[in-house]
Amino acid sequence: MRTIIETLETPVRYECDVLVCGGGTAGFVAALAAARSGARTILVERYGYIGGSLINGAGPLHSFFNLYKAFPDAGKIQVIRGIPQEIVTRMQEAGASPGHLEQDKGGSYDSMITLMDWEEFKDMAFTMLEECNVKVLLHTMAVGAVMDGDCIRGVIIEGKSGREVIEARAVIDTTGDGDIAAFSGAEFIKKHDTTSAGFPFGMTGVDMERLVAFLKENDMITQLIEGDKGSDVDHIIRLGFDLHKIPLFAEFMDKSGMWGPLGFSLHENNYSYINSATLRNVDATDTEALSEAEITLRHQAMTLSRMLREHIPGFEKAYVSWTPACVGVRYTRVVRCEHDMSLDEIVNCARFDDEVMLYGFHDCAPRIMIKDGGYYGLPYRALLPVKVDGLLVAGRLITSEWDAHMSTRNTASCMAQGQAVGTAAALCAREGVAPRQLDTELLRTELRKQGVFL
Ligand SMILES: Cc1cc2nc3c(=O)[nH]c(=O)nc-3n(C[C@H](O)[C@H](O)[C@H](O)COP(=O)(O)OP(=O)(O)OC[C@H]3O[C@@H](n4cnc5c(N)ncnc54)[C@H](O)[C@@H]3O)c2cc1C
Repeated sequence: MRTIIETLETPVRYECDVLVCGGGTAGFVAALAAARSGARTILVERYGYIGGSLINGAGPLHSFFNLYKAFPDAGKIQVIRGIPQEIVTRMQEAGASPGHLEQDKGGSYDSMITLMDWEEFKDMAFTMLEECNVKVLLHTMAVGAVMDGDCIRGVIIEGKSGREVIEARAVIDTTGDGDIAAFSGAEFIKKHDTTSAGFPFGMTGVDMERLVAFLKENDMITQLIEGDKGSDVDHIIRLGFDLHKIPLFAEFMDKSGMWGPLGFSLHENNYSYINSATLRNVDATDTEALSEAEITLRHQAMTLSRMLREHIPGFEKAYVSWTPACVGVRYTRVVRCEHDMSLDEIVNCARFDDEVMLYGFHDCAPRIMIKDGGYYGLPYRALLPVKVDGLLVAGRLITSEWDAHMSTRNTASCMAQGQAVGTAAALCAREGVAPRQLDTELLRTELRKQGVFL
């Protein structure tokens, strides 16, 4: 490939204590935690809203609780607390979330799921960031790292104002794809070939009761929660079913590997989230591959919606009312950190002296379950890249074993990781130490004060 040499003089537009790159699931919470811990905090996000895959890929948040329905002796334990719980509480108070809901069917996969209205979430997220004075730069890509040897000193951003630099005492990579880690020369591997990207969508005008009656008659339901969502006619909140039982759908879905669908409904006659479209081996760090995936998955989702309308009772008058802002990416770069969580540690409830969160969900349950419905610790070292200084990472960019990642990548885990790195980065700025030198007991004490369950 031919290259050109550019000579660039880039203005240093901002200075801060903590710079969070990527305002998604982990980054949102990281920014809140950093700012509340007294750090001058900037949050950079490429889209025009906060939430990332939390509101573009994920449906129910997995999981604030242990798998107590599969292991009744374990008892029901709320493992994720702190800021993630505060977000759910704020959403409930705003009438925008039914909170945590126990599964009537599917409790051995996830005993308690958590749902939120995403449009309300987008507004709430800005309110919470404003309350603690986080400077939010939207429509802004982080495109490079400013390095001093192996230490990151800042990040180059590009937005409508052009190319600029943000200098920071500590930088957090919550881009999901490990963009900042890669720019800074941190070690990483790519894992997109082990999984698929998705493209959930929502449909309005669905007669949910009629749909569920049909699915019950044909024994197709896999997950179900019925409850009050303010409607006289529609009480379906969580709904997963198996379309492969119908040959026409099986043929179409098997070709592409589509599943389910799994979904939920928060408003009357609105099947707000339908997760079924899927495409394997998408390298979302490659512009062409990401573009192709976006096109293929959109075709897939729209074809499925038409088939539902034509063939499944309840969908006759339904139409697609929501598609995500971008293809849902599960796994791309995995940043090499001081500790890499293994499946063995996860399922056997490993505990660590420097653990900064606990977690009790595995996305392959009931096939892979955490022992006896317990939970494991995630050490601070799992969020600390080797080699590069001044950098912390959190979210779906950690954990190199696919079946271990199937636990750590889930939303509630990413949020808790965010609280840990945000607090750690603020402490580093305050104490004038590098993340690798941070006293982890100090960090754990601080996290406990914030309500984190350790
Ligand atoms: C289809 C699908 C379904 C899923 N279902 C569930 C589910 O039901 N329950 C569950 O708990 N989990 C689910 N997950 C997993 C979960 O949603 C993700 O693993 C998790 O949300 C990832 O959080 P994150 O903070 O690492 O990344 P994200 O939430 O993706 O955040 C990354 C953010 O960084 C921004 N960004 C990226 N690069 C840059 C850059 N260079 N500059 C600036 N900003 C940048 C992005 O726009 C985004 O906002 C699902 C995932 C997918 C894809």
